[in-house]
Amino acid sequence: MIAEANELDAFKAEVRKFLSENLTAELRKAGSRMTSVYADHAAQMEWQAILHRRGWAAPAWPTEYGGAGWSPMQRHIFESERVKAGAPPVSPMGIKMAGPAIIGFGTDDQKKHFLPRMLNGEHFWCQGYSEPQAGSDLAALQMKAERHGDELICSGSKIWTTHANVANWMFCLVRTSKAERRQQGITFLLIDMSTPGIVVQPIVMASGEWIQNQVFFENVRVPVSNVLGDLDDGWTVAKYLLEFERGGSAYAPALRAGLDTLRSNLDGSRFEKTPELLGRLAVFAVQVEVLDALEMEILSAVSQGRPIGSDASMMKILGTELEQRFTELQLEAAGPISRAWQPGTTAPGGPILSYPGIPEDYCTGDVWQAVAPLRYLNERAGSIYAGTNEIQRNIIAKSELRL
Ligand SMILES: Cc1cc2nc3c(=O)[nH]c(=O)nc-3n(C[C@H](O)[C@H](O)[C@H](O)COP(=O)(O)OP(=O)(O)OC[C@H]3O[C@@H](n4cnc5c(N)ncnc54)[C@H](O)[C@@H]3O)c2cc1C
Repeated sequence: MIAEANELDAFKAEVRKFLSENLTAELRKAGSRMTSVYADHAAQMEWQAILHRRGWAAPAWPTEYGGAGWSPMQRHIFESERVKAGAPPVSPMGIKMAGPAIIGFGTDDQKKHFLPRMLNGEHFWCQGYSEPQAGSDLAALQMKAERHGDELICSGSKIWTTHANVANWMFCLVRTSKAERRQQGITFLLIDMSTPGIVVQPIVMASGEWIQNQVFFENVRVPVSNVLGDLDDGWTVAKYLLEFERGGSAYAPALRAGLDTLRSNLDGSRFEKTPELLGRLAVFAVQVEVLDALEMEILSAVSQGRPIGSDASMMKILGTELEQRFTELQLEAAGPISRAWQPGTTAPGGPILSYPGIPEDYCTGDVWQAVAPLRYLNERAGSIYAGTNEIQRNIIAKSELRL
């Protein structure tokens, strides 16, 4: 046990050294300007390339596939140090989601083709699950894929697809047959976004930013060799992957780092720190510690191979609700300089500022004050994506309360 603790201390020191040597001022700037859970695309890819050179781009993948092969505790240490240092995150859709699914269900050829390209950033992925009539009720999805020889011909639409505007690959759920159970007859497909018949249309968020999209498919031809797992059995792969989406993260380290930054920003601010605001920050700090205790319990279960059950749902609810509360505190702390961002009023019908969307002269205050309203608006979605918090509550009610 002591040997293990010493090894983890040495690992933490190694991560800190790596961050201090590799995190450039520009990358830190991209981290500090994040207006949602994603960093600027170019900066994010630059950071991934740096991690890849060190063999750290995919912390959870086994080393035989080019991953770091870290234990859950090592991954937690790395993430905690990364957010403390202000480094941008790596986009999750490829390395954290499609990657494990390909490792778990892919053929040798699929692994050889996709995994190295995902690591080096040549392929950038988006997730095509939700449809206009299928969100929480994902099994209602209708995008169809009909087999013609060695191809599947796909028609339909996916919605809310994060980063479809920059992605060159999509992992997608399509309906390949009608079965008695709606979960049957769904296939997990890997689609090259440059295939003719695909049109990506922006969905501009309340923040004025373009991160999400609706994607239309009209007779898009995809080779059958791009099916992951078995034809008609994509639900099995999708469920496996959702476990990574729901259980694979911790919220407390980023919230704690954000709170520390906010407190130091406030010290340098010309606005009054009212006792009410300081009191709310103190209550928030306690809530983050409670969340951290839950996350450490989950980490311990995962490390010992124990099932985490509905704890992942509890963590998602608490984590996203605290993230939302944090953006409210940030907005309040930023004061009058942090005004609502209204691109429509500054450029009626004109170009929409692309992500990350903060012009240098937008704000007369500090960058954190300019970012605050955008983070506030974008973070409203935290309780919707990755399974809404109402659905998470249903999961808890079913498994813990037997309702
Ligand atoms: C910012 C953002 C990014 C996203 N990124 C992606 C992406 O990259 N890829 C992708 O595939 N999808 C993505 N999504 C879609 C997301 O997964 C869905 O929005 C989510 O699953 C909810 O589905 P819906 O929007 O159709 O709402 P609905 O399912 O129609 O739900 C509407 C409301 O009803 C509630 N509700 C529904 N069913 C129940 C129930 N049984 N019990 C209690 N309450 C219920 C919901 O909680 C919600 O409040 C993203 C969404 C957002 C907002």
